[in-house]
Amino acid sequence: MTIREFQERTDDWIKDYGVRYFDEKTNMLVLMEEVGELSRLMARVYGEQSFKKPGDALNARDKIGEELADIIFVIGCLSNQMNIDLESQLERNFEKKTIRDRDRHKNNPDLM
Ligand SMILES: [Mg+2]
Repeated sequence: MTIREFQERTDDWIKDYGVRYFDEKTNMLVLMEEVGELSRLMARVYGEQSFKKPGDALNARDKIGEELADIIFVIGCLSNQMNIDLESQLERNFEKKTIRDRDRHKNNPDLM
């Protein structure tokens, strides 16, 4: 699925099942909520925090993928309702990064 197809599919889903988009501010808060859910898992899988119940560690890596997908879905919603073509924006973003950071990271001794 291309990014453009993802945005179309998100819009179709909202029309079929979501009734309408939450307003932009609500979706921004939903995005932060989803980032929080990802953060909670990352702190426990890659960080020093522990799971309250040992069973919660099972499939935690799969759950990280689910949370990443939740985040991308809300980004699709926000992009659609603000008429942003994410595919074009990502192309421009890669161009910007490539020009700006062409040698920056290669010259960073902390990355060697
Ligand atoms: Mg979630």
